[in-house]
Amino acid sequence: MRLLLVEDDPLLGDGIRMGLEQSGFTVDWVRDGVSAGHAITSDDFDLMLLDLGLPRQDGLTLLKKLRKAGKELPVLVVTARDAVEDRVTGLDCGADDYVVKPFDLDELAARVRAITRRRSGRATPLLRHGDIILNPAARSVTRNGDPVPCTTHEFAILEALLTQAGRVLTRERLEDVVYGWAESVESNTIEVHIHHLRKKLGKDLIQTVRGVGYIIPKSGARHGG
Ligand code: CA
Repeated sequence: MRLLLVEDDPLLGDGIRMGLEQSGFTVDWVRDGVSAGHAITSDDFDLMLLDLGLPRQDGLTLLKKLRKAGKELPVLVVTARDAVEDRVTGLDCGADDYVVKPFDLDELAARVRAITRRRSGRATPLLRHGDIILNPAARSVTRNGDPVPCTTHEFAILEALLTQAGRVLTRERLEDVVYGWAESVESNTIEVHIHHLRKKLGKDLIQTVRGVGYIIPKSGARHGG
C-alpha cells in the first residue's frame, strides 16, 4: 500500500516514515502543502497522511481543494493535541479520520488499514481468494491454512492485486505500490516478484494481461468469513 506523508517537521516525518515502512507500507514524503497538491495530481496513492500546519499551503486548504475537485483519496489528518477545532473542521472538510500528536505508530498503521478497508467496502480485515488468505495486520499469507512466507515486496504486490481483484494493475502501478519514488527499479523486477508469487501460490492466481499488466480475477469466496 502506497501512502503520501505530508509533514514539515523533519524529525516527526522521519519517524512516521520509518515506522510505517516497518509496518510494510510504501511511504512517499513531501514537506509542504503545494508539493502535496502536485504529488496527488501526478501519482496514485492509497491514502494521504496530512499534517495541518504546513508551509506554502496549510493542510485544511489542501483538503478542501481535494474534495472540491471530487478526489476520493482517503485522508488521515494529523493534528496537535490542543487543536480540537481543527479536528472537527478536518472531518467536516472530508478527512476520513484523525490522529493526535504524539501518537503510537502501531495505532497509526492500524488506522491506515482500517480506513482503506472501509473505503474498499470490506467488513473483514482479511483478504481472501479461494484457499488463499492474506492478513494485512499480521502481514501473513496462508494457503489451505498453511503459512506462505512472502517477502515485503511480494506481499505488497499480492495485497494490491487482492484489494483490487477484478481490475488489471499495470506494471508501472505495481512498481509505484512497491517502491514509490524512493528506489530505481530494474525493468523486470515486478515480473520476478510475480514469478515467485506464482511458485508459492499456484500459477493460476495471478493472471497476465499481455501488454497491460496483471489481474487476480474476482472470487466468490473472497467475501466469505
Ligand atoms: Ca506542521
